[in-house]
Amino acid sequence: KAKANGKNQVQIFTEALNAEAHYKLFVENNLRRALTQNELEVYYQPKLCLKTGQLTGLEALLRWLHPEKGMINPDQFISVAEETGLIIPIGKWVARQACRVSQELAALGMGEVQVAINLSPKQFTDPDLVGSIAAILDEEQLPPHLLELELTESLLLEGTDDTRQQVARLKALGLTLAMDDFGTGYSSLSYLKKFPIDVIKIDRSFIKDIPENQDDMEITSAVIAMAHNLKLKVVAEGIETAAQLAFLRRHKCDVGQGYLFDRPISSRELIERLRRYPCRGA
Ligand code: C2E
Ligand code: MG
Ligand code: MG
Ligand code: MG
Repeated sequence: KAKANGKNQVQIFTEALNAEAHYKLFVENNLRRALTQNELEVYYQPKLCLKTGQLTGLEALLRWLHPEKGMINPDQFISVAEETGLIIPIGKWVARQACRVSQELAALGMGEVQVAINLSPKQFTDPDLVGSIAAILDEEQLPPHLLELELTESLLLEGTDDTRQQVARLKALGLTLAMDDFGTGYSSLSYLKKFPIDVIKIDRSFIKDIPENQDDMEITSAVIAMAHNLKLKVVAEGIETAAQLAFLRRHKCDVGQGYLFDRPISSRELIERLRRYPCRGA
């Protein structure tokens, strides 16, 4: 194919690099405007109790609705937002939207619905992170237990004493702390005892090949049992099939999230959707 186009491998490689650099530049140049021009939107994906099917919470997932390019998913811009530091103001904005949605659902009589936001390690370089989260909770008048933070393994393991102190202060505010993408980063589990984590989210990569992959099933059931021994709640992400759901229920996984139940949806769609769920506390 290279020959047919009259290009050699080096040319193809250089072009690919240029395309990547070009895309990064596009994101850098547009993301700042995206925040001020209301191009960003937070979508919400329900998390369900696997025992009762009731809603237990939501995960806030960022979307970028670019006027020409359409919907851009976070995998395509979060890393640039991190590199440029834009994730700091964007993250605060996401936190506020999440608090408002929980308040809105309560106001609609749908009960207390916990909302989780994702925090990337870069956000912990902001010395004001804890103060700004506390201020947002206060301004939006959201009880702290209704906000959950999804943290990465690398934050806790590679983080400085300073990040660990920030995590402890966030916990002390009364927030719920979850370990996101569990199992993808590290082989040592001992850190689970050292940090004030409440929830483990088993990464989708362990769920997606259930029930075909015996190893994934062993790992998943072992992680659930271990988490329960440590008094942690377990969430399985990326549930797409009835067979996966049956396996997770059989192994007493507490909570599930995935396309089988819902894709991430806008707050407007969410409210419509929730009219069909009986909610905790409602
Ligand atoms: P994550 O926190 O692990 O979020 C789960 C991802 O899996 C989401 O992708 C969600 O849409 C997707 N997902 C959920 N259920 C299924 C399923 O059944 N099948 C499949 N194939 N996928 C499923 P999304 O929304 O593209 O987000 C990707 C990542 O971007 C997130 O992974 C998170 O790390 C990051 N992210 C998203 N929003 C934010 C944010 O506001 N701040 C930060 N710092 N990171 C964010
Ligand atoms: Mg997450
Ligand atoms: Mg995850
Ligand atoms: Mg992930």
